[in-house]
Amino acid sequence: MSASPLRCEVARLRRTRRASRRAIYPGSFDPVTYGHIDVIERAAHVFDEVIVAVANNIQKKPLFDTRERVAMLLESTKSIKGIRIDVFDGLVIDFAHKNNANVLIRGLRMVSDFEYEFQMALTNRRLAEDIETVFLMPSEGYSFLSSTLIKEAVSLGADVSSFVPEDVAKRLKKRLSSRRRQGA
Ligand code: ADP
Repeated sequence: MSASPLRCEVARLRRTRRASRRAIYPGSFDPVTYGHIDVIERAAHVFDEVIVAVANNIQKKPLFDTRERVAMLLESTKSIKGIRIDVFDGLVIDFAHKNNANVLIRGLRMVSDFEYEFQMALTNRRLAEDIETVFLMPSEGYSFLSSTLIKEAVSLGADVSSFVPEDVAKRLKKRLSSRRRQGA
């Protein structure tokens, strides 16, 4: 093999190797919690690059718009190396292909997550055989946390500073109290 095809082959192998180490962590992150951050940190230890992908087209109306959800993620993950935050529309497998990633990260909290996550992983596998779903478990301390639960707790006046970063707690309080004033 002459030098040039060899260089091409090495470059191709490098690209393949890198692609196999890039993972997508999709979700609505409405808002990000310490549970999500725990999963992001774990994923960043395993993969070269983790793209935290914020779903733009979620079915239920989010409390925070996409721009706000991205801003909270940027603020709360700024010390974590090897990650980036992005937004996607449509199918996550299309987003993964576009970004040359072949792993989807999902967090598993309790057995109750399993059924839905299992269905989604198998559906994605049927749609894209080349993409694997990898499940990561958070620390036990965060295994009960969900964005929905936190929103409920804040609307009832609870202090959620041990569940979400300070910036998120402030935004939640502000958003939910203005909603209460509007009678929403
Ligand atoms: P969804 O994609 O259902 O809207 P989220 O955006 O809240 O859910 O979460 C994205 C991913 O993060 C899902 O795989 C979810 O199971 C996981 N996740 C959410 N909260 C936690 C937590 N406390 N610990 C671990 N994983 C979590």
